[in-house]
Amino acid sequence: MSWEEKVRRVTPYVAGEQPQKKNIIKLNTNECPYPPAPGVARLAAEMDWEALRLYPDPNTSVLVNALAAYYGVKPSQVFVGVGSDDVLSLAFMTFFNGNQPILFPDVTYSFYDVWAELYRIPYKTCALDENWHIRPEDYRQPNGGVIFPNPNAPTGLLESLGTVEEIIRANQDAVVIVDEAYVDFGGVSALPLVEKYDNLLVVQTFSKSRAMAGLRIGFCIGSEKLIGYLNDVKFSFNSYTMNLPSQILGAEAVRDDAWFRETTAKIITTRERVKKELKELGFSFPDSRANFIFAAHESIPAEQIFRALRQADIYVRYWNKPRISEYMRITVGTDEEMDRLLDFLKEYVNSL
Ligand code: PMP
Repeated sequence: MSWEEKVRRVTPYVAGEQPQKKNIIKLNTNECPYPPAPGVARLAAEMDWEALRLYPDPNTSVLVNALAAYYGVKPSQVFVGVGSDDVLSLAFMTFFNGNQPILFPDVTYSFYDVWAELYRIPYKTCALDENWHIRPEDYRQPNGGVIFPNPNAPTGLLESLGTVEEIIRANQDAVVIVDEAYVDFGGVSALPLVEKYDNLLVVQTFSKSRAMAGLRIGFCIGSEKLIGYLNDVKFSFNSYTMNLPSQILGAEAVRDDAWFRETTAKIITTRERVKKELKELGFSFPDSRANFIFAAHESIPAEQIFRALRQADIYVRYWNKPRISEYMRITVGTDEEMDRLLDFLKEYVNSL
């Protein structure tokens, strides 16, 4: 057997989604269009760079404590990681360890099947209904495990807390992970259920609503038991420890609640305006509660519009996959960025 036959192969993520080109309108990976809270820049300028000689605090205490205080839980219920992708991948490794398949929706975040394949975790997908909603009755797999985003990606649709609780109740013998990457744009968090169910893990990120994708900060909140197990796995690998600047600047971001509320409200306002204008141009979409809109045009194929937008240096996301190939996903940017997108689309739609 050659060494190549023993390689664990996965389909790599499309690297072109993070172009290093300047002066593009970047609406393809759901980042925040505004800079982080002002205190973050101030603290970065005052940072004690001498401290970078040393390894960072493996307990990430400064950030864990800030998050615990903000969400009203114990520090022992908070775990932070290098982006929520890191938290999720560690949770897959730690909790999805049975012989029974884990369940997640089809369509959903494209990394779940990648991690499942990488860690050899069996999985089954549950089709969304005709309105793109989760059917909670599908999520029952004794000794399996469940993961879904709420709001879902790339649809942006929100499931009610009742639906979330129904899924947790039906899976008390397994871990249920709710991926709340987009919850701050009008979603409803499952965090209040953490006190009631010790098998629930709620995962969130600083990459979207806190404008810090560049620092790679994610976290999760759950029962002390769940968090303890995650820490046991994490402490075996120094590579999972968050770097020092991210710990300090992340904690500062949590303290500025006024910035957080104002910024998320601004994005929601822009989203609702853009929805109206897209509708007038012949687009339809699920009712997004996230910082993106998943839109299909009544007569022009999404791939064609996507290519025309790229030519104009306006980046949106498109997947040539069953069921979603008629849609493109547009991140909500600043009002100016959205105006440029809408102007382009108006001209494009009218020119055909
Ligand atoms: N979950 C979902 C549903 C996402 O869309 C993303 C962003 N691509 C993530 C998790 C990961 O975000 P990050 O690693 O930047 O925290």
